[in-house]
Amino acid sequence: MPSIPTRPNVVFVLLDAVRADRFGGWGNPNPTTPNLDALARAGIRFARHYANSHATRASMPQLMSGRYYHPDVLRGFEPFSNPSEYPFRERDGSVLLPELLRQHGYEVLGVSAHPWVVGDCPLGQGFHRLDFLPAEPSRGHVDAASVVDRAIGLWRDRARDRPAFLYVHVMDLHIPRWLPNSEVLFLPPGVAWRERFTEGSIPRFGHRRRFWDPVDARDFTPADRAIFAAFYDTSLAYTDAQLARLLDVLRSEDADLLSSVVAIVADHGEDLGEEGRTSHSDSLTDGVQHIPFILAGAGLEGGQRVEAFSENVDVVPTLARLLNLETPLGAFDGRPLVEADAHRLSREDRPGVFYAWLEYQAVRTRTSLLRLDAEGAPEAVCRGRREVLWRLDGSARREVGLTGPAVREAEALRAALLQRLAGPEARFFETLRHAPTQSLFVPPRYWRVADGVPVTCHRIGADTRPGDLRVPGWHYARQGFFLSAGGCRDLEVTVATPDGPYEVDVGVVPLGRPPRLFKFHLWLRRAFRDAAPERFVPLGAHTARECRLTVAIPEAAVSGHRLVTLRLTPAGARAEAPPPDEEDEHHARLRALGYVE
Ligand SMILES: [Zn+2]
Repeated sequence: MPSIPTRPNVVFVLLDAVRADRFGGWGNPNPTTPNLDALARAGIRFARHYANSHATRASMPQLMSGRYYHPDVLRGFEPFSNPSEYPFRERDGSVLLPELLRQHGYEVLGVSAHPWVVGDCPLGQGFHRLDFLPAEPSRGHVDAASVVDRAIGLWRDRARDRPAFLYVHVMDLHIPRWLPNSEVLFLPPGVAWRERFTEGSIPRFGHRRRFWDPVDARDFTPADRAIFAAFYDTSLAYTDAQLARLLDVLRSEDADLLSSVVAIVADHGEDLGEEGRTSHSDSLTDGVQHIPFILAGAGLEGGQRVEAFSENVDVVPTLARLLNLETPLGAFDGRPLVEADAHRLSREDRPGVFYAWLEYQAVRTRTSLLRLDAEGAPEAVCRGRREVLWRLDGSARREVGLTGPAVREAEALRAALLQRLAGPEARFFETLRHAPTQSLFVPPRYWRVADGVPVTCHRIGADTRPGDLRVPGWHYARQGFFLSAGGCRDLEVTVATPDGPYEVDVGVVPLGRPPRLFKFHLWLRRAFRDAAPERFVPLGAHTARECRLTVAIPEAAVSGHRLVTLRLTPAGARAEAPPPDEEDEHHARLRALGYVE
C-alpha cells in the first residue's frame, strides 16, 4: 500500500437531477456549462454515461456502493413501506464511497442541499462531517451559492496532514427551479414567460391536470416546453458559475490539479416535457437516464472523450482504482473505467447500460431500450405483458410492437439483462434476513399479482368519466386496487418480506357510491386523492417462506373500498397504525420538492 500522503484529494460533485444533453460539451447550443466543459477538456468526458435508476432514493445507493440494487442509504422517507427501505436489511459486504475513503485515511467532508443526504443516515455515517444546509421549507432547497460557500469553507479548514474527500451535493436543477436574479436566460426577447410559469418554474395553467399527476405535461405547448427548458438551462448556467468558484479555490493551491481528483456526476436527469412528462418519474427516457460524468486531475491525461457506455455503478470502482484503494473481492458490480495503471482508459467495449429498481429492469444499447417489469407488477398485469421495447433515435424513442424480428431482438436483450442483473437482484433479495419486530406496510405498487387475475388500469384525472370505473372486475388506479361489480376471483398477491408468521390486514379507503353525473369529480377527489388507509380489514395469519408471503384478498371483504396498503405484523408484535405524516419543516421541504403531496 502506498503511503497515505501520496493519495490525491478528491472533490466529488453530485448534481441532482442533471441531464447530460443540457451541457454545452454534450451538444447544448446554449452556453450553459463553460466551466464544467473546460474541466472536462482538462480531463475525461464520459459521453455516454447513465444513471442506474430514475430517482434519488433508487439511484444514490447504486452510485455510492457501485452495486446494482442496494438497501437504502439515505434518511428515512416512507419507513417500512418500501422493500428497499426496510431498516433490517443487511448491507451484505458492500462499502459506500465515504466509508471506503475514511478507511484509507481520508478526512471525509461534505455539504448537502438534499434533506435525505444528511449526517444521520447510513451514507452520512461515513463522513467525519456532513453539513446539511436547510432551506426555508417552501423553497425546498438552498441554492448553489450557499452550498459552494460552505464547500469552500470546509476545504480551507481541512486537515493538511492527510488527504481530503469533499462531497458537494447541489439541488438547483431539482424542482422547484428558482430563477437566479428573477431572469430567464436563453429565451428570445419578448417571450411572456411570467404568464405561463412562476419563478419556481411551476406552470400557472393546468391545475386540475397536475392535481392528479404533478409530472403530467401533456398540455405543454412547444412554447411552454421552450420556456421550461430555458428555466433549466438558466439554473444550470448558474450552478456552473458557482462551481467555478470552488474549482478556482482548488486551483489556487494546485494549479494543474496534480494532487486532486475532481469527479462531476449526477444521480439522475430530468424530463423537460418531452413525451408529456416533467421531473424524474420512471419513464426511463434518456432525459432522465443520460447524465454527465467528468473526471479530471491527478495525472489523468486531458482531452479524452469516452464514447463507450458507462454507468453509475462504475464510478466508485473507477475512483477506487485511480486512488489505489484496496477493496474486498466482489464489493462492486460496476467495473473500473481506467486500466490497472490508473491513467489509461479501459478499452473494454460494452454493449449497453442497465437500469435496476424494484419495479423494473432495463437495458439500453445504442439502438434499443428494453424495459422488463417485475412479474405480477400491477403495470405489467395491466399491460398484459412484462416487456416494452423502444427503438432509439438519438435521445428520442419510438415504442415498437413485439412482433416479427422485434421478438428475437427483445429475447436477446432480455438474456443480456438477466445475465447482468439476476445475480445482484437475488443477492439483494437475500438481504431480507432479519426478522422485523414491528408492522410493515407494503403499498400496492410492490405487490405481485398472481397469474390470471384480470385487472383494468386507469390514469385517474380530469378526463376520467363515470363509465370508465364501471367495468366489472379488479381495477388499478393511483397505486391502489378496487373492485367494480361482483363475481370476481380473489385478488391473490405476493410481497417480499423475511420468513416467519405474520398477522395480515389490508388498509382501505371507503369509496362510497359514485354519483352518476353531477359531483362525479368531487367524489373522485375524495375517493382517490388520499393514499392513507382509513381502516384495516383483517386477512388472518400467514407465513412467509423464502422471503415471500402470499395472501388472497376476498372480494366480499373489500367491496366498496380502495386498497392502499398491506400491513404485515410479525407474530407477537402489536399491529401499529402507519407512521403519521410528520407536519414539520422536513415534511414541508419534501412537499416543495414534490416527494409528498
Ligand atoms: Zn435526485
